[in-house]
Amino acid sequence: MNKWQQLLAQPGPLVADGAMGTQLFAAGLQFGDPPETWNVLHPDIVRGIQRRYIDAGAQIILTNTFGGSRFRLAMHNLQGRVAELNRTAAILLRAEIEAAGRPILVAGDIGPSGDILAPVGTLSYAEAVDGFTEQAEALIAGGADIIWIETMSALEEVQAALEGVRRISAEIPVITTLSFDTHGRTMMGVTPEQALAVLTERGAAAVGANCGNGTDELLAAIQRMQAAGPRVPLVAKSNAGMPELVGGKAVYRASPEVMACYALDVYRAGARIIGACCGSSPEHIQAMAASLRTADLSAAPAGTSPLPAAAAEARPAAGDRAARRAARAARQPGTDKAETE
Ligand SMILES: [Zn+2]
Repeated sequence: MNKWQQLLAQPGPLVADGAMGTQLFAAGLQFGDPPETWNVLHPDIVRGIQRRYIDAGAQIILTNTFGGSRFRLAMHNLQGRVAELNRTAAILLRAEIEAAGRPILVAGDIGPSGDILAPVGTLSYAEAVDGFTEQAEALIAGGADIIWIETMSALEEVQAALEGVRRISAEIPVITTLSFDTHGRTMMGVTPEQALAVLTERGAAAVGANCGNGTDELLAAIQRMQAAGPRVPLVAKSNAGMPELVGGKAVYRASPEVMACYALDVYRAGARIIGACCGSSPEHIQAMAASLRTADLSAAPAGTSPLPAAAAEARPAAGDRAARRAARAARQPGTDKAETE
């Protein structure tokens, strides 16, 4: 039994981590700078953030490599450092986890290329596979237990990343999550049902949703996947609420209490692996882990609990066009969303 199977053999929900990017910005990372260089420039800060997620109760932690593919690093003329930055990231996290002394998975994080695949865009499928192969090789060499492909919009790109991972390892478990941020679909039009069907068939160990426009949207994606009869665990990693643009920066306002309610809601809706994305902190994960511990694990029904009043209050009304515009703008280059999770 590998570490992934051992973790899944435990009953109840599994807690994943929260945002890395948000915490790096709080620690002084400048907008536009590549977060992956901090794996070598400020390893103590990266490890410190991961340690706080471990202390908060996370059982799966992502490496600081969201933008670690050659495609993303090329935006900073760092495409020659893929192996170094990804391998170092995995080694750092493994060291932090070994110091913790309990079973926690090192998830090698792979984010989108930032390009659109041909024929709509310029990146060929073969080039995409090559680039993701290079990143996966370094993450696995550094000691990743699993690979987590996240914040994807195009199924072809997830498949390219999966294929890249499989060129390096036939067995390593691969989690895949997409961002269903456009009226229940990804920006490229993929539905939760399509993602679940295709990625399960391609051998993903778990499928789900991350990032996007807040907890409501995440919950809806999980409900749809659950209704489709998943054969793999479902994954929910919501932003800490709907992003709002303030002075060109994305701001996330969901409190730890709101995220604790969200954690229970997505668990009852069918998610097994639950964490948070942009705007979240170790305090959010701690509150989520605490609320999940109180869940009646034997009676986790498929379906949802009504959203508590606090959560309903903290989010913009459905169909709030200004909020959606802000959310969209928050994903444009020049904001943290474009650079890291
Ligand atoms: Zn995010």
